[in-house]
Amino acid sequence: MSRYRSINSYLREQFGEKVYKLSLDGGFTCPTRDGTKGTRGCIFCSGGSGEFSIPVENDVYQAIETAKSLVAGKGAKKYIAYFQSYTGTYAPVERLRYLYTETIRHPEIVALSIATRPDCISDEVLSLLSELNKIKPVWVELGLQTIHPQTAEYIRRGYPLSDYDKAVQDLSEIGINVIVHMIIGLPGETPEMMVETARYIGQSGADGIKFQLLHVLKNTDLADDYLSGLFHTLSLDNYISVLEQCIEQIPPSMVIHRLTGDGAKRDLLAPLWSADKKHVLNAIQCSFVRDNIIQGSKYSYNRFSAIFHSI
Ligand code: SF4
Repeated sequence: MSRYRSINSYLREQFGEKVYKLSLDGGFTCPTRDGTKGTRGCIFCSGGSGEFSIPVENDVYQAIETAKSLVAGKGAKKYIAYFQSYTGTYAPVERLRYLYTETIRHPEIVALSIATRPDCISDEVLSLLSELNKIKPVWVELGLQTIHPQTAEYIRRGYPLSDYDKAVQDLSEIGINVIVHMIIGLPGETPEMMVETARYIGQSGADGIKFQLLHVLKNTDLADDYLSGLFHTLSLDNYISVLEQCIEQIPPSMVIHRLTGDGAKRDLLAPLWSADKKHVLNAIQCSFVRDNIIQGSKYSYNRFSAIFHSI
């Protein structure tokens, strides 16, 4: 019995077999890093969550081949090119056109996935994504993290919730698959607030969701706050409890791309239990069975609630 709509089952539905993600680095930055909206990035960010990405520079084909070699031996034949590092739509549109057109030209790339921010999707970018999406499926991953303004300010996200709403609407209108990242365990948030974020994402029109555990990485501003005792990280049991409530609130059709997240082990400060990813995923699956968790079992669409929050 399938308790939730996993990314693996979705990929098999779409492409008929297992598809592997290749993590690529297009050499971008972020408006919260280059001085446009700030210089220190988001408070938890150690470098665009793409530490293991292959730099593309000017030879896209070679970068894809190098990334493929990292998953060699698994019998992979189809790949998703995932531009994971920093803000994947934050560059002159000619550069984006070159990178992304060359990427989808590769015969084994079956889809293009771009991680970005809702405040970095201009009309020019939309028009490019629409063109590319007619050739191969394009996914856009939006780092929302929370719907709560006070937390958004603390993490230095740098855009209001209304930017998220507009981005989801604009991208959905041109047929782009939208995936949203949320973080469970952000400082100052109660479990109820975290579940509210999941509920909001579920009603926003997005196609997929990535749940991330707040983990504290060394040499981030978040680490300084953590070491000064300003907040605690979640226990595994508390993480699973919130995750279960979130999953019940999102629609059954929404694809779950991730049940937890992890940073580079060498940089992990807390929570240390998150370093054992296999154990964490096992614990999540066992809890879903024990608690009879079914995705969408508490979902009910409430347009008013969705609009209310975006004001
Ligand atoms: S937008 Fe993403 S990559 Fe950029 S600073 Fe924030 S978390 Fe890091």
